[in-house]
Amino acid sequence: MPGRDARDVVTAVADYTKLDRPESPARVRLNSTVLRVRNVGNDRVEVIYSRGGTLYKTTARQCVLACWNMMIPYLCPELPDVQKAALHQLVKTPLVYVSVALKNWRAFQRLGIHAVEAPGSYFSSFTLNEAVDIGGYRSVRSPDEPILVRMERTPAKYGLPEREQHRVGRAELLATPFETFEREIRGELGRALGGGGFDPARDIEGIAVNRWPHGYAPEYNSLVDGDTPPEKMPNVIGRRRFGRIAIANSDAGMGAYTDIAIEQAHRAVHELLGTVA
Ligand SMILES: Cc1cc2nc3c(=O)[nH]c(=O)nc-3n(C[C@H](O)[C@H](O)[C@H](O)COP(=O)(O)OP(=O)(O)OC[C@H]3O[C@@H](n4cnc5c(N)ncnc54)[C@H](O)[C@@H]3O)c2cc1C
Repeated sequence: MPGRDARDVVTAVADYTKLDRPESPARVRLNSTVLRVRNVGNDRVEVIYSRGGTLYKTTARQCVLACWNMMIPYLCPELPDVQKAALHQLVKTPLVYVSVALKNWRAFQRLGIHAVEAPGSYFSSFTLNEAVDIGGYRSVRSPDEPILVRMERTPAKYGLPEREQHRVGRAELLATPFETFEREIRGELGRALGGGGFDPARDIEGIAVNRWPHGYAPEYNSLVDGDTPPEKMPNVIGRRRFGRIAIANSDAGMGAYTDIAIEQAHRAVHELLGTVA
């Protein structure tokens, strides 16, 4: 990315080829799915990953697994059973953000609204793009101009315990065809905005459905976790160092935010270095 801060990157295009250069001290290998990680002898970790249909094997002195914690037992089956059981509990919340391109937002203006909360509906809320000007980006000002609307859905099966709701929601998300999303989008926007003159057939220009089967990291929930002491929480048991393998990701901190991910990465690296974070 060119530049130095948020203002410079808003409209910039990332050069992904720079992530994996032989001369770089740190290299990021995109589109590579790790299938197997194991301690070998006393001084190495072996990692097997898949890329473009081919399997590769590499070794490292040490390894941080910063992926979704609930998958780690499959990558590293030698982990103690109690740790694998804890990792299996760290189920991320599935999430859908939809961007709907509208030719104009006159209906919103006529109704005097910028957002709709619709608990119980297919999409629990939708919002006009925020009016933010930053760097080279200028937001839309006139209701006659095209704009994006963001619609949110957290697929879940009500009535089940929280983590089971997420598992069922993820299965639903993976099986839902685009047509279902499109029908629900057109129906919900039509019903909510029809009084302002909105016509889905005329006013919708395009739809992008972004699905995160593994979205937000799990967080403390008093209904599920109750008075569990910190040392017995699944993330604390699950993130124990295993030989030369340490475990990070926001799941390990049970907090769905970037600062938690950074803190957990910092802790995991210090565990491997044998230093205090
Ligand atoms: C739609 C959405 C919006 C969000 N908005 C915000 C926000 O505004 N602010 C905020 O603080 N947080 C936000 N979050 C939460 C955000 O995910 C975290 O803050 C942050 O990305 C967590 O970083 P992480 O490194 O823990 O995990 P991730 O960013 O999820 O990184 C894990 C990586 O591991 C990779 N991976 C998984 N399995 C394997 C495997 N077997 N082999 C190789 N790679 C693997 C994944 O592809 C992924 O790239 C949002 C999350 C979602 C889904």
